[in-house]
Amino acid sequence: MSNLQQQISENVEEIRARIAEAAGQSGRSADDVTLVAVTKYVGVDEIRALVAAGCAQLGESRPQQFWQKAEELSDLSVRWHMIGHLQRNKVQRTMPLVAMIHSIDSRRLLTAVDRAAAEHGLCVPVLLEVNISGEEAKHGFRPEEIEPLLEELPSLDGVNVQGLMCMAGLGGDTESARADFAALRRLRERLAVNCPPGVSLDDLSMGMSGDFDVAIKEGSTMVRVGSALFRGIDR
Ligand SMILES: *Cc1c(COP(=O)(O)O)cnc(C)c1O
Repeated sequence: MSNLQQQISENVEEIRARIAEAAGQSGRSADDVTLVAVTKYVGVDEIRALVAAGCAQLGESRPQQFWQKAEELSDLSVRWHMIGHLQRNKVQRTMPLVAMIHSIDSRRLLTAVDRAAAEHGLCVPVLLEVNISGEEAKHGFRPEEIEPLLEELPSLDGVNVQGLMCMAGLGGDTESARADFAALRRLRERLAVNCPPGVSLDDLSMGMSGDFDVAIKEGSTMVRVGSALFRGIDR
């Protein structure tokens, strides 16, 4: 086994153990939490090593780099997640390549994805990104915008809203991250009781390298982990 493969396999194993432990502490099992391995920092060799280590769900945040990697790696059977800001003029090319878009951060983007998907006869699983910490620099809906939006969703055929996504506030400590994740979970719980038919809010995409343990304890079902998977590797 190459050094690269060995280091990445060890890192994956360590992260999976931490996921299992945090899931256990919230009364769930490791299978209840999807690890999305974020590959934006690395090239195709590292990605192949990740996949060989058992990661089949990959995340990218920049559309152009995503297109290129998805093409170069089209022989792999993986599912790609778009997790970063998506401009509307990049929707057409992104859509056929993704298993899920986590970062629907405006009505205009939601509409653009819906139209493009419907044209292709697709229905794309998406999450609504919520700016839960309220920072100006962050993308996402304000929490109070979600409820009115949910009522309009049944009329959209090209998107299947499956949950909510957030990032913890910048520069905060673990406790403030935890408060942000708890706030997203409470928003989900409050909205789930009145969800229109065909809309579910089952997924909560929250938690990154520095805070995925607390995110899972607060109910995350999808963690987006990048840098922690590449520890000990020159990149
Ligand atoms: C880069 C990125 C991640 C992963 O961040 P790490 O701290 O490296 O784990 C997760 N989510 C989004 C939206 C990102 O852009």
